[in-house]
Amino acid sequence: MSAALTRRDLLIGGTALAGGVALAGLAGPGTAGAAASTVRPDLDVHVLVVDGMRPDELDPSLTPTLTGLAADGTFYPNASSIMIAETLPNHAAMMTGVLPYRNGVPCNSIYDPEAGETRDLDRASDLRAATMLDRVRTELGLTTASVLSKHYLHGLFGDRASVVWDPFPLLPGTEHAPDNFTTGALIQIVGEHSPRLTFTNLGDVDRVGHLDLSGPSTRIARTAALRNTDGQVQRFVDFLHATGRWERSVLIVLADHSMDWSVPTNLIGLDRPLNADPLLAGQIRIADNGGADVIYFVGDDAQRSEAVERIKRIAAGVIGVESVRTPAELDLGDRAGDVVAFCAPGWRFSDPTPLSNPIPGNHGHAVTTPIPFFVTGGHQMVGRGQRIDDVQARTIDVAPTVADLFGLAAPQGGWDGVSRIEGLVIA
Ligand SMILES: [Zn+2]
Repeated sequence: MSAALTRRDLLIGGTALAGGVALAGLAGPGTAGAAASTVRPDLDVHVLVVDGMRPDELDPSLTPTLTGLAADGTFYPNASSIMIAETLPNHAAMMTGVLPYRNGVPCNSIYDPEAGETRDLDRASDLRAATMLDRVRTELGLTTASVLSKHYLHGLFGDRASVVWDPFPLLPGTEHAPDNFTTGALIQIVGEHSPRLTFTNLGDVDRVGHLDLSGPSTRIARTAALRNTDGQVQRFVDFLHATGRWERSVLIVLADHSMDWSVPTNLIGLDRPLNADPLLAGQIRIADNGGADVIYFVGDDAQRSEAVERIKRIAAGVIGVESVRTPAELDLGDRAGDVVAFCAPGWRFSDPTPLSNPIPGNHGHAVTTPIPFFVTGGHQMVGRGQRIDDVQARTIDVAPTVADLFGLAAPQGGWDGVSRIEGLVIA
């Protein structure tokens, strides 16, 4: 599989620090800068995201490797995404440890007033906070790697890591690389560069889930994807064992959100009812985020508060809408417009037209926030056979946990997540 990864696919980013100190960190353990002297030398952290996996898919008959790894480590059965339960905001939360209003990434798709159109938050400049991929690299001089299967994730994280995989081959339509290739890239990068922190997104389970037309009762393609992805995780674990890396590895394994399936008739369109209001007519832009509609009022600022009240009232009255919130209520920041509407289970938004969102699998809404989340691996500090019921681990907890493991301080303003250090026995 590594034949698919050529040298051209590896972009080596960020080899110089502000202040002129060169800390490439590309030669692996033992080459850290002075600041790294306090970091324990026997530790690699691998963050593995099974994109879109539901907690009920952690089942020994379906995903034996993942289920076994969870049982062997510390498992959080009540784990959750942050809102909006989409891919980009949750990956941004994982690596920054701060909420969207601080990191700039509240949803996958925004209305961009400068461009005058909706677009994905897929630019490196869209991510406005430091990530663990750059902090471990620049503050400690250690090698980090991002191995992100989805094209827009790769764009958002840019060259923050020391070693960046440009996902290939991208499947047309889903714009992601299959998990076999992503895992092959991860294995090759770990083999060649021995990064101390890796961040990997496996996109198959989500991408197949979105498109699975066999419906919620059978989910044939989804099941096949889960089995294959589980096998890819086993392949990585086997590689860590075979190369003597297992005992130095802590694996943080989670999903970014789960998945809900709607039936074709459960479509919600807010564009038409909102534009039927005289104040709102022609002044509404909607960024469709599947299970969430992000709504922008582009009219006169003096009318904004009245407009927001009308948007909330009209949206809340549309069948299939479960809740209506302002971005401030959810700490989403100003990029998330004026009102966010969330759908009920089994529904989806399709805006601005009924054809805008044809896919049955969606997420973003409340029912899609439960996720699998566990800390595992061969390192002696991993808590064995623990099940922690009384806390809600969240995607945003990954960064503070990684920071604790590497001895990095909280960012200015503190973490919004919580270190899940209770899953680890720090010697
Ligand atoms: Zn996702």
